[in-house]
Amino acid sequence: MYDNDISNVVEADRAHVWHHLTQHKPYETSDPRIMVEGKGIRIWDQAGREYLDGVSGGVWTVNVGYGRESIADAVRDQLVKLNYFAGSAGSIPGALFAKRLIEKMPGLSRVYYNNSGSEANEKAFKMVRQIAHKRYGGKKHKILFRERDYHGTTIACLSAGGQPERNAQYGPFTPGFVEVPHCLQYRAHEQGLENAANYGELAANAIEEVILREGPDTIGALCLEPVTAGGGVIAPPEGYWPRVQEICRKYDILLHIDEVVCGLGRTGTWFGYQNYGIEPDMVTMAKGVASGYAAIACLVTTEKVFDMFKDDSTDPLNYFRDISTFGGCTAGPAAALENIRIIEDEGLLDNTLAMGARLMMRLEELKEKHKVVGDVRGKGLFCGAELVADRLTKEPVAEKLAQQVVAECSAQGVLIGVTNRSLPGRNNTLCLSPALIATEDNIDEIAAAMDVALTRVFG
Ligand code: PLP
Repeated sequence: MYDNDISNVVEADRAHVWHHLTQHKPYETSDPRIMVEGKGIRIWDQAGREYLDGVSGGVWTVNVGYGRESIADAVRDQLVKLNYFAGSAGSIPGALFAKRLIEKMPGLSRVYYNNSGSEANEKAFKMVRQIAHKRYGGKKHKILFRERDYHGTTIACLSAGGQPERNAQYGPFTPGFVEVPHCLQYRAHEQGLENAANYGELAANAIEEVILREGPDTIGALCLEPVTAGGGVIAPPEGYWPRVQEICRKYDILLHIDEVVCGLGRTGTWFGYQNYGIEPDMVTMAKGVASGYAAIACLVTTEKVFDMFKDDSTDPLNYFRDISTFGGCTAGPAAALENIRIIEDEGLLDNTLAMGARLMMRLEELKEKHKVVGDVRGKGLFCGAELVADRLTKEPVAEKLAQQVVAECSAQGVLIGVTNRSLPGRNNTLCLSPALIATEDNIDEIAAAMDVALTRVFG
């Protein structure tokens, strides 16, 4: 089908491909990494090197693992039947997947299809803005986002981005986005809250302070990751989410949960927010929806939000005037239907809870053994280990040392991640997110590689 001579491939890549999130200078003297094949939780590169993929495709995506023929078959069958029609019409897999998805999301009812997490978040922002215009004379248009959270790569998503290193040099940004403080208890001392027994509640109260400062009648929505991913793997502290929900209700602010990473099982529940009893108004999701077998993202809303765009007035602007060309591709929902079936039939939520608990146990052991591991945290198969130069001051280790740990794991055939280009001087959290099919042996293999890597880098 294509040129399989790998040296030609490497040269074509080096000459013509601009890799994501990559400084290309080193490729003048070394080969770019090209991934060639995957099966289950394992992946092979151009040199035939085998890796246990502890990061599900690098960015928390391949939830059901590589090489799923049933997903490929479902996509193929759909493509030869009908590959595409614009999303202004429905499709068979689009309708059926929406129904399946909504069964997992009590309280929500409408699915808007897109093709990336950034795009889904953009659409949510647009809905908030349009609601502000339709109902509040444009006033209730501001969108709150949280320090350390990430919502995507477009200019509006970066405007809602709490990671300065992702944003630097890309401004000016879109007005009307306002940052609220993070809720990372390990770093509560940076907020003057180190001894607070009710840290979670206080961290949520800090959101209310911002709302009162800005004026509640100017705030349309609060957009949060249920568990912060690239900003440091931050599972929210006890008491945080109930208070956040209360605040949103008090000031009539839409709660938009960004499930782009957590959605479809990553934390051991269908959605991250379901760990915390939250009732969101809008939910966005992407990566795990079809585990990377096809591009698909969804913005899911309540019927109440949907109804705000459904009226019989003669106003020609009365509906959501938005389209996503490739949001009409049928490969996405066809793959997503099979993906959700696999998660359900193979009991992958239960497996995620069990293997997540094992991973946390192994990380705790690493923390006991290596004093550079300051904090371990996570939810389900979504865990992090923060590396510090000093446990007392919690001074982060130099970023290149954290990256060296990743490289040392890779040298042993285990891929792990590190918070990447998010917070200047703070990219010191190792990230673990193997596929939801991970076994006990896989978890132990990841931990053993980390143990060796930590010893090699820090002694
Ligand atoms: N939201 C979160 C929480 C993410 O982690 C990401 C990507 O990493 C996005 C949104 C953006 O998704 P995409 O890269 O599909 O645009």
